[in-house]
Amino acid sequence: MQGLYIHIPFCIKKCNYCDFISFACEESKMQSYVIALKNEIECIVNTAEDKTIDTVFIGGGTPSYLDSSLIVDIMDTARKCFNIKEDAEITLEANPKTFTKQKLIDYKKAGINRLSIGLQSANEESLKILGRVHSYDDFLNSYNMAREQGFENINIDLIYNIPSETKIMFKNTIDKVIKLKPDHISLYSLIIEEGTPFYDMNEKGLLQLASEEDEEEMIAYAKAQFENTQYNRYEISNYAKEGKKCRHNMNYWQNGYYFAAGLGAHACLNIDGNIIRQKNDNTLSSYIKGCFSYKKECILKEDSMFETVMLGLRLVEGLNTKSFQKRYEISFFDAYADTIKKLFEEHLLEQNGDYVRLNEHGLNIQNTVLLQFMN
Ligand code: SF4
Repeated sequence: MQGLYIHIPFCIKKCNYCDFISFACEESKMQSYVIALKNEIECIVNTAEDKTIDTVFIGGGTPSYLDSSLIVDIMDTARKCFNIKEDAEITLEANPKTFTKQKLIDYKKAGINRLSIGLQSANEESLKILGRVHSYDDFLNSYNMAREQGFENINIDLIYNIPSETKIMFKNTIDKVIKLKPDHISLYSLIIEEGTPFYDMNEKGLLQLASEEDEEEMIAYAKAQFENTQYNRYEISNYAKEGKKCRHNMNYWQNGYYFAAGLGAHACLNIDGNIIRQKNDNTLSSYIKGCFSYKKECILKEDSMFETVMLGLRLVEGLNTKSFQKRYEISFFDAYADTIKKLFEEHLLEQNGDYVRLNEHGLNIQNTVLLQFMN
């Protein structure tokens, strides 16, 4: 399994919580960015021994903010360079109000078969607080338009613990979203990141955040409603209808290999049997000039093993111990014998055939549990 991530760093406006690599008011650079991006795709393919791609994810930023002819161009280049499988999952991140019927028609032509739409909340006040540029009605129009154009695999992104949002408002969002029957729902906690307007507001005590107890109630409500309506939680923050797990992200959580192109993008490559993690520089002006500079790091076996455990135990199915043994030539049970024994005794870990997973309680206190594998 191998993925390709493509980063588009443009947005209409920066949201108040966002620390992703994305810029507002840089529309004039979109065209030259895409020229550079296509050059980079042509360069990175030279690092590939195996050019087969199972999943493509065009993320951002707001890829749907670009003219759709540029997205078609990017996908043409990617297909020319890589062997993108016929049944590949090809996702594009889209924000409400940034795409039209014509754009959707072009996406289909480019082979895009999955959309990930950022809603975050169905509550107008919350959308304003987050600094989103769309209303709930804008989202509905965009979502319905995508369905009309035949998109049969749509994710909706949501956030909980939005400042000043009550439990009732949050529950209302969950109920509304379920009624729309998307194929996949991601529900992430708001994180207050340094360098964002929210960080400064929080420092000044201006953000009213939910208590831990309220947060737990919100997650429990969402989880129960999702599961009652056939959305299975398959990763700590992700729920999917049968057969609609995000294959691209599954590859990340299984610590698989993926290429990456675009500003600040991260790749994980298998070069001559070595695991190489590569991070692109994030200076827009240099990137556009075609100066691609990378930070490369060769990952030691022990570090890769630890990453595989950290990522695998985020999945509800857990870590595949057979694949672990095949990849690292050591049994998972031998590599972490003391920690595993302790976690079994504490009833946080359980075994299901070839898989070892955190139980429900373990998943809820995942960070504390995973830290124990560090020792
Ligand atoms: S739309 Fe997404 S990437 Fe763009 S500023 Fe908002 S959160 Fe960040």
